[in-house]
Amino acid sequence: MSGNLYLVATPIGNLEDITYRAIRILKEVDLIAAEDTRQTLKLLNHYEIKKPLISYHRHNEELKVDGLIKQIKEGKNIAIVSDAGTPAICDPGEVIVKEAIKENINIIPIPGACAFVNALITSGLDTSEFVFYGFLSINKKIRKEKLKEIEKENRTIILYEAPHKIKATLEDLSKILGDRKVVIARELTKIHEEFIRGNINEIIEKYKDPKGEHIILIEGSNFDSNGEEQEALNNMTIEEHYKYYEKQGLQKNEIIKKVAKDRNVTKNEIYKLFI
Ligand code: SAM
Repeated sequence: MSGNLYLVATPIGNLEDITYRAIRILKEVDLIAAEDTRQTLKLLNHYEIKKPLISYHRHNEELKVDGLIKQIKEGKNIAIVSDAGTPAICDPGEVIVKEAIKENINIIPIPGACAFVNALITSGLDTSEFVFYGFLSINKKIRKEKLKEIEKENRTIILYEAPHKIKATLEDLSKILGDRKVVIARELTKIHEEFIRGNINEIIEKYKDPKGEHIILIEGSNFDSNGEEQEALNNMTIEEHYKYYEKQGLQKNEIIKKVAKDRNVTKNEIYKLFI
């Protein structure tokens, strides 16, 4: 009888962030396929789990899949774990899941930490609708296309980013988004956990030396998906823009807030024009 494929979420920093069930499954499986065996060994040692470990990472994923699938079909239970968080979220996992589905293998998710979910729930941005982009590509063309998509995206946008690329990414975002509201979630669950909130340029200004792991969350745009209202607003003078909302019966404060948001500038800038 075929065994099971378990996708086991592990901590994203604090070793306590793992479920009882995840620990039990890691103790019960025949083999753990880990993104980095040294990293996983620290977790296993902490919980006194002794299991055969093999490496299963982005660069050998395709090569290792057949062997792992064969072992599961022979009856072995195998757990996939990544260095941190949920497998297959910007980490290895997707390839073996697709193969396992083809082979009718039972796939069992073992829930736990996932960095972007925790960043989102603490961000203060809209959590009802959001879009996860993972890491932005460094390929110029793909990156530009994604940035264009992000510009018009109405839902909260979530990006993963490496510390040495944070500055460049914020600068690229500032060029297309103006001064949109942004939250940086840094070092979640670790000693230096921090949430930096502000508009993009403020953050570029005050956050000079990014260290550790980062998530960038961006407030969704006001862009009207059929484009018509937004285009009309773009072509208005600020006075026309103000009157447009006045006619809708909005109060001064509300109008200033909306005009500022549509034009991607601060409320203060609009205020000054009307004083
Ligand atoms: N599978 C992981 C998950 O479930 O979130 C993501 C792995 S991805 C290779 C690593 C990226 O996730 C980091 O570059 C960072 O953007 C984000 N990340 C992971 N742990 C984090 C943490 N403790 N604090 C902030 N961001 C984190």
